[in-house]
Amino acid sequence: MRYVIIGASAAGLAAAEMLRQWDPRGAITLISDEAQAPYSRPLLTYLLSGEVRLDQVWLKSPDYFEQWRFEARLGERVVAVAAAGHEVRLQSGEAVPYDRLLIASGASPRVPAIPGHDLEGVFTLRTLADEQRLDAALQAGCRVAVVGAGPVGLKAAEAFVRRGCRVTLVEMESQVLPRLVDGQAADLLCGALQNWGIEVICQAAPSGIVGKRGRVQALALGDGRELPVQAVLCATGVTPNTAFLTDPALAAAGGIPVDARMQTPAPDIYAAGDCVEARHLLTGQPAYVPIWPAAVAQGQVAGANMAGARWRYPGALPQNSISLRGFQVITGGLIQPEGADVEIVQEFDRQRGGYRRLVYRQGRLVGLTLVGQVQDAGIYFQIMSQQLPVRDLAADPHRPDFHPGRLWG
Ligand SMILES: Cc1cc2nc3c(=O)[nH]c(=O)nc-3n(C[C@H](O)[C@H](O)[C@H](O)COP(=O)(O)OP(=O)(O)OC[C@H]3O[C@@H](n4cnc5c(N)ncnc54)[C@H](O)[C@@H]3O)c2cc1C
Repeated sequence: MRYVIIGASAAGLAAAEMLRQWDPRGAITLISDEAQAPYSRPLLTYLLSGEVRLDQVWLKSPDYFEQWRFEARLGERVVAVAAAGHEVRLQSGEAVPYDRLLIASGASPRVPAIPGHDLEGVFTLRTLADEQRLDAALQAGCRVAVVGAGPVGLKAAEAFVRRGCRVTLVEMESQVLPRLVDGQAADLLCGALQNWGIEVICQAAPSGIVGKRGRVQALALGDGRELPVQAVLCATGVTPNTAFLTDPALAAAGGIPVDARMQTPAPDIYAAGDCVEARHLLTGQPAYVPIWPAAVAQGQVAGANMAGARWRYPGALPQNSISLRGFQVITGGLIQPEGADVEIVQEFDRQRGGYRRLVYRQGRLVGLTLVGQVQDAGIYFQIMSQQLPVRDLAADPHRPDFHPGRLWG
């Protein structure tokens, strides 16, 4: 059996390893347009800040592909998938045949379509090459605007401060982490960012990037303000990498559609990771959840099924963990579900120095925000992913101080 995988990152590698376990003899080819060995994207902002070194970002040992008997075609781009002919076409013109194909092509940063977005000094941060470009451009004392106060924007802003830059964080919505936390958690986080010297401007949409001789000079905001900056980082979310797919059944704007077995509508084609629209574990509705653990779990299910298993992916549970200078925020599930059966308990405890918010629906935990005091997050996520009826759980005799049905355990 010939298996071909497009993408050699979280989803592609997890699928390849699962395939090898299910089919020791199959020919497994991984194709990636990134030339370097697989690395951890979540570590890129820490690489930028200098908290980790380059040799710490590699995911696998140098002999990994050999050990697993994978053919790695790194630095090669797939330009088309010919589903009828069961082959993928490379930029070089070569056709690579497959019996089963996995698309694990991930996502790319969305760049706001504003004047000046293509000036020198406008950056995104998705790949190691992006990080290296940023690293080379940064100089202590330079002014940087980060557009987008999601997890990547926050972590990058903090990294820039560590590098000695003066940083302004610009967010269109009324708070930082707008899709991940409630207003109170956002205020605590915003206070911490400001303490570290980051200027935070919310409810402000960039209207253009002003340049001089092709280089960034300022970020213009919709209200007429102009922030003088030498660099702009666009951290305004991602969009699935599906441009090479011409089959309309696959190239949906919200991500490649898949069923619970991670199979696409096209015969013998599976998909996993940031390029797919999977199901939300808690709502059962189609959802785009571009996070590392979801990509790995989806890749594992796809890999096993490509080799003949009948595994089902239970659904993606949104979860984010942000740790900046020891200030931790862990969030997951649904933030603001509606309905008469929803109960939200929340408290800011000055003595403990933390904020907790738990969202229950019909006695089951469906949302979690922990700020400052994040212990027991793992237990909460286990309970949430299994949808256990929390109130009925007995307190753990080994942990009489902790009960998941109460705010502080
Ligand atoms: C700075 C940063 C920090 C992050 N932090 C976190 C975090 O803390 N926690 C978390 O859960 N997630 C985090 N993420 C998100 C996480 O990295 C992604 O969810 C994860 O990488 C998705 O894995 P994937 O395999 O689906 O896709 P990707 O990692 O995007 O890999 C897809 C690969 O396919 C390649 N490819 C695409 N198209 C083609 C083509 N046509 N031909 C050949 N190759 C192609 C791409 O170049 C890429 O190498 C972070 C992301 C970034 C950028």
